[in-house]
Amino acid sequence: MKYIIFSLLVTIAAMFSITSCSDDDPACTELTWYEDADGDGLGNPDVSQSACEQPSGYVTDSSDTDDSGISSAVSTPVSAFDEFNSDAVTISFDGSEVTIESNGLPNHTSPFWDSNNSLYIDPVVADPNQMSPGAIGERNFSVTLPTAPEKAATTTATGLGSIGISVTGAPIFNGQEGPTADLSENIASGFDYAGGHMGPTGYHYHTESVDVPENTTLSFDDEKLVGILSDGFLLYGRKCNATDDYPTDLDESGGHTSSTQHSDGTEFYHYHIINEYYIGSYILLFGADLQGTPNRIM
Ligand SMILES: [Zn+2]
Ligand SMILES: [Zn+2]
Repeated sequence: MKYIIFSLLVTIAAMFSITSCSDDDPACTELTWYEDADGDGLGNPDVSQSACEQPSGYVTDSSDTDDSGISSAVSTPVSAFDEFNSDAVTISFDGSEVTIESNGLPNHTSPFWDSNNSLYIDPVVADPNQMSPGAIGERNFSVTLPTAPEKAATTTATGLGSIGISVTGAPIFNGQEGPTADLSENIASGFDYAGGHMGPTGYHYHTESVDVPENTTLSFDDEKLVGILSDGFLLYGRKCNATDDYPTDLDESGGHTSSTQHSDGTEFYHYHIINEYYIGSYILLFGADLQGTPNRIM
């Protein structure tokens, strides 16, 4: 008996759906759509509507925790990636991600090269007594970043180790020198003109390079690209191409939104080296919190 009633219900339901197809309003499967005000592809779970077809500005995803409507998702200008030292750095794009791999070998002279290397020079600015031990050797760094990085809801402090990859291929460090040690003037006096030295994970930079004739590649008091940080935002020198001067609208991380020499007029968020001394006469490359979401540099 139960089976007969069930069959009957199924039949009636089938008839209904056939009938509804012949109506002016064709049969459709209504889905719940969530507002995507900031256009990041993630919808706001608090603002939804049901519809057969996707309403403009709505998506099926409902996982956006910050659908603020203010989107900073402008793609990083591709020409900026041309600035990276192609002998050391391999850049590969895959959809909305870019992977940067580097062997860590910078394309400039340094007393940290082995003395047999053609790029070896005697110290120009480094105090030989303060130079960290070891010689530049091949490493293997890799990081995958969004091609259109966005500012996160909260900032993130950087830690010990690589916080970015410079255009030379060597990693960028912050103002930390060990698990419990910050940079000191003593340590910095052992840096080469590039603002770099050796550490347990290889050659890396902490500070802006020095204005010496030997420096032909690295940013000093200019608008050159320095590298890319682990949240996917570019780091430029102390000056900005948009104004040919020191930017005056930087946030606490040294970032602002403007065009650069790579963006053909398009404004996008990027960092600058903050134009102030960190210790002594040394200017740190980046010592603030990241405004985006950091990705692991392996
Ligand atoms: Zn260091
Ligand atoms: Zn700028």
